[in-house]
Amino acid sequence: MDYPGNLFVVAAPSGAGKSSLVKALLELDSHLVVSISHTTRAPRGQEQEGREYYFIDDATFREKISRGDFLEHAEVHGNRYGTSRAEVEKRIAGGEDVILEIDYQGALQIKQIFPNAVLIFILPPSWDELAQRLTRRGEDHPEVIAERLKNARIEVAQARHFDFVIINALFETALFDLKAIVHSQRLKYAALRRSKPSVFAALNLD
Ligand code: 5GP
Repeated sequence: MDYPGNLFVVAAPSGAGKSSLVKALLELDSHLVVSISHTTRAPRGQEQEGREYYFIDDATFREKISRGDFLEHAEVHGNRYGTSRAEVEKRIAGGEDVILEIDYQGALQIKQIFPNAVLIFILPPSWDELAQRLTRRGEDHPEVIAERLKNARIEVAQARHFDFVIINALFETALFDLKAIVHSQRLKYAALRRSKPSVFAALNLD
C-alpha cells in the first residue's frame, strides 16, 4: 500500500467495547475517519442511513460483490457486511487515516490486500466480564447473548493473527492504548515517508 494515509482495523467480540473505544478515539483525533460499511441487516434503534451503515438488501449486496465494490465482506451473526473499496481508497489516497470497525474475517481479508494495515484486536478481561457486559447492555434476549458468547470464543481465538491486542478492563486505559497504537504507527519510518513525502524529499531521504 503506497497510499499516504494509514489504515487501522479494529475487531472484537460483541460486548468487548469496540464501538465505544472507536467513537472516543474519533472524537479525539481529527485526522482519523471511520469507514461506513454496507449491511443487509435492518437498522436498530436510532441508527440512520449513511451514519452507522448503508442499509441495503441482499440482492444489492450480491450485485456489489460481483462489481468488486467491496474491499472485504463477511457474514456476521447471520447478516452480511462489506467495506466500500471506493470510500477507503479515496480517503487513504487523499492522506486521511481510516479506521475500519469490522469483524475478524474482514480484518484478515484487509491484511491480505493492504499488508501495511494495522490490525488491532480488543479483548474482554475475562469471559465472566464479557457475559456481564452483554447482559447489562439489556439489548438482547438471553438466547442472543448465549449465541454471542459462543461466537466470541471463535472470534477471540483469532486475536493471535492481529498486530496489536488491547485488553479492555478499564475504558480509559484501553483508550490510551488505542491512541498509542495509532500514534506509533504514524511515526514508523515507512508510514511517515508516505504521509510526509515532501519532508523526506527535502532531506534527501528515500
Ligand atoms: P452490528 O450489526 O452489531 O453493528 O455489527 C456486527 C458485527 O459486524 C460487528 O463485529 C461489526 O464490527 C461487524 N461489521 C460491521 N461492518 C462490517 C464490515 O464492513 N465488514 C465486516 N467484515 N464486518 C463488519
